[in-house]
Amino acid sequence: MRVLVVGGGAREHAICKAVCNSDGELYSFMKNLNPGIKRLAKDYFIHNETDADKVLEYALKKKIELAIIGPEAPEEAGVTNLLEENGIKVASPSKEAAEIETSKEFMRNLMEKYRIKGSVKCKAFSNVELAKEFIEMLDGEVAVKPIGLTGGKGVKVAGDHFNSIEEAAAYAKEVIEKGIGGHHKVLIEEKVVGEEFTLQAFCDGKTIYPMPAVQDHKRLLPGDKGPNTGGMGSYSHKSGILPFMNPDDYEEAATILQKIIEALRKENRQYKGVIYGQFMLTSDGVKVIEINARFGDPEAMNVLPLLKTNFIDICMAMVEGNLSSKKISFDSKSTVCKYVVPEGYGMKPIAGKEIFVDEKGIKKAGGLLFYASVNEKNGKIYTTTSRSLAIVGIADEIEDAEKICEESLKYVKGDVFIRHDIGKKELIEKRIKHMEILRS
Ligand code: AMP
Repeated sequence: MRVLVVGGGAREHAICKAVCNSDGELYSFMKNLNPGIKRLAKDYFIHNETDADKVLEYALKKKIELAIIGPEAPEEAGVTNLLEENGIKVASPSKEAAEIETSKEFMRNLMEKYRIKGSVKCKAFSNVELAKEFIEMLDGEVAVKPIGLTGGKGVKVAGDHFNSIEEAAAYAKEVIEKGIGGHHKVLIEEKVVGEEFTLQAFCDGKTIYPMPAVQDHKRLLPGDKGPNTGGMGSYSHKSGILPFMNPDDYEEAATILQKIIEALRKENRQYKGVIYGQFMLTSDGVKVIEINARFGDPEAMNVLPLLKTNFIDICMAMVEGNLSSKKISFDSKSTVCKYVVPEGYGMKPIAGKEIFVDEKGIKKAGGLLFYASVNEKNGKIYTTTSRSLAIVGIADEIEDAEKICEESLKYVKGDVFIRHDIGKKELIEKRIKHMEILRS
């Protein structure tokens, strides 16, 4: 089957590998030249991924039978809609269904309208004074969020990024006045405390099939300090849940995703594709932090290499609405993924620096390599301002997967930064303890 993957990051590299492992003929549409995807693809086109007309033109020219959209921005730009209007099957949500991610206000309103458990106190404002009053009502214990897309970097949280009602209100004002995230509006949410986890699920509009849970690390620096980033790395456990969770927590999160899908269907926004729930496990159960309309990046790299079922078959089942008849299974292994990012990432990233990747060494060490936002020129690899590449270790235990990941990372050199604490025993034990304290 001729399959088009839109996007050129590490998540898309993982999707492309899954397509090729399922005997698909791969075509790629990406804004940067990802060296990993370039090697896998029968053909590729370098262009802005949100240019729906150009994606369609390319897809028609290459007689694409199935398209998969990796990032959220092309979904918001209506790429799915345009391809479908022209008879091309797409295993990703329409612009309307993807609003579950592209508008945080829509997501919260939907959860409220359909009384879906797991939401938090929240309200959207376009008036600075009213936003401040709400922040005061919540004693400044809030998360301040742009309504639209900011690449995971626009959210600021009390205690982490500001320490007073005044500072929270000042950021809310900035979001409203500058229109951060594309709207002159801000969402103020009650701050919830706990351990975060991601649950991704395949979805055909009616049924979901949840994948193994993953924990991402959004903060830039070791010990969960520094600004929020696109994600610095992640891990998963062979049991399918995480060491600080129990099976009921997983079920609770899966039920929330199922109810969101049902609500979207009732709103005539039938959802097909991968849905992603970012949850906080609190003393009061599972809370929704955000919903995304795609695979997570890095979380795709934890789950896709474990997938035992033919990925294209799953995509077709999502498109055709018969996911419930599919048998899907994952290898019972633990994974650790660490991102290599350019020096200064999250603050003042240095682009255009050469990085040296010894692919043979990585392979020998047992790691999987996923290229992200790098550019290849004359056989050399250069950083951009975004994350450069990710390495994944896979083993029975998290500890061993982490060691494989670290051993492989020795074969990447340059002016780069890595959060080495991800997947380490100390950090995982800290998370287990944190949850024990919260539940006691
Ligand atoms: P988001 O882009 O909505 O996923 O938010 C980025 C990060 O901010 C999340 O991964 C959380 O760590 C944190 N965050 C977002 N919303 C809340 C909230 N209501 N309470 C506590 N932390 C939050």
